[in-house]
Amino acid sequence: MQVDLIIRGATFPTAPGADALAVHCGVIRAVGNFSELQGLIGPGTDVLSLEGKAILPGFIDAHTHFVRVGLERTFYVDLSDAMSLDEALARLRQAAQERQGAWVVAQGWDESRWPERRLLERLDLDRAVPRQPCCAVRVDGHLVVCNTLALARCSLPEGELVDRGLGHLREEAAWELLEAILPDRTTLVEAIAAASRHAAEIGVTAAAEMSGKPEYVRAYLHALEEGKLKTRVFLYIPLEHLGEARALGLRRGFGGELLRVVGVKAYVDGSIGAHTAALSLPYRDQESRGTVLLDIESLARAWRKASHAELQVAVHAIGDRAIAAVLRAAKLAGISRYDRHRIEHLELPTEEHLERMEELGLVASMQPNFVVNWSGPGKLYEMRLGAERDSRIDPHALVLKHGIPLAFGSDGMPMGPLYGLSGAVSPPHEVQRVSLEDAIEAYTVGAAFSLFAEGELGELAPGKRADLVVLSADPRTTPLEEIRVEMSFLGGEVIFRR
Ligand SMILES: [Zn+2]
Repeated sequence: MQVDLIIRGATFPTAPGADALAVHCGVIRAVGNFSELQGLIGPGTDVLSLEGKAILPGFIDAHTHFVRVGLERTFYVDLSDAMSLDEALARLRQAAQERQGAWVVAQGWDESRWPERRLLERLDLDRAVPRQPCCAVRVDGHLVVCNTLALARCSLPEGELVDRGLGHLREEAAWELLEAILPDRTTLVEAIAAASRHAAEIGVTAAAEMSGKPEYVRAYLHALEEGKLKTRVFLYIPLEHLGEARALGLRRGFGGELLRVVGVKAYVDGSIGAHTAALSLPYRDQESRGTVLLDIESLARAWRKASHAELQVAVHAIGDRAIAAVLRAAKLAGISRYDRHRIEHLELPTEEHLERMEELGLVASMQPNFVVNWSGPGKLYEMRLGAERDSRIDPHALVLKHGIPLAFGSDGMPMGPLYGLSGAVSPPHEVQRVSLEDAIEAYTVGAAFSLFAEGELGELAPGKRADLVVLSADPRTTPLEEIRVEMSFLGGEVIFRR
């Protein structure tokens, strides 16, 4: 037998001892020594020598917002290099003229760099963009300023997160608005194409789209048809659409090689940054404990319905009180470990929670980049929670110790496995630390398991799809920060080459 492609000369950190890999018809046929694989070379075989490089299975981002990542790269007006408030407004004015009648969404403004030294406000935006909705995300992502037309789309009441006078929306109020802005189909398809190109550049060959709302699903289908999707996307449908999914008989696995349904996504709390993650004890810098957004009975009921429809449930739960609520709902629903239901983020579990997760067969879907971004002395988690709680946040090591399946993802903050992995390999706190081998596993085969795809993805082994990432150096001997992605393959096809 002859094969399409042989890669030789590289190291294979997840297949120690191997120095070559054979691919045929998009599938890995053999991994081993070049001397053993030579017999597979025929006249039509490409032989690629990658001396000094390291090859891993393509990374699988188990939790991201793929369309949003794309929109950030295509649709949003970039204000990050605007050097004054007036310059920012001039750019918005121009974008409004180019996009008559459509939303103008901007990002990246930073008043600390401006001579005016003040935040953008509703009336500024009204002056620049009077006749179409316009909003602009501050550089930190935690504040969105809206003009009057955009603000009308915000359904939340005036309060800590909403200041209608200034047109300021914070945290969840900001996310809600950004999710409500629906660009047209062409824009969404282009965003998906851009997200897919970006994913290939950072070695991500498969990703879970956690906001699989109908408009996005439609855009994905168009992107697929137009050949613009070069990433395997696994869809999570918002819980409010569970009824439609069941009515259609959708189950996990519906779809194909590049786009398929896995389950539904539910929210039980918010985020630590916004003081909305549900904690058992108050925040350090505010007299509140956050809110559990979904009562246990409703969650259990939805869980039973989803399980019956063979849809996996992925539940967002960050604070210890939210995690406890999810575990009670899981028990009440009588979930089966074979359905591999997931808890998303799982930032502040106790040992007892982890014991129960193991008993129930729940999967931990975690984002090591959160550690990089926000954990450690002087950072956001310490400010919000105090040093003690910060020291036991995102406990990847305890999750593994309890035998809980671990899947890594990014939540798109930012997407980038090499960046995220260092939050698990060299974190500020011991409970966060896992071996490089375990961290890579969580970002490949662990993520695949959480998506019911470990039979085809996540490993360099015969029979698995040839989704590969070529790194500039071996992460076992070179610090992650110094490593770049050189090439990515999807089903044996080169989708990125530096
Ligand atoms: Zn998310």
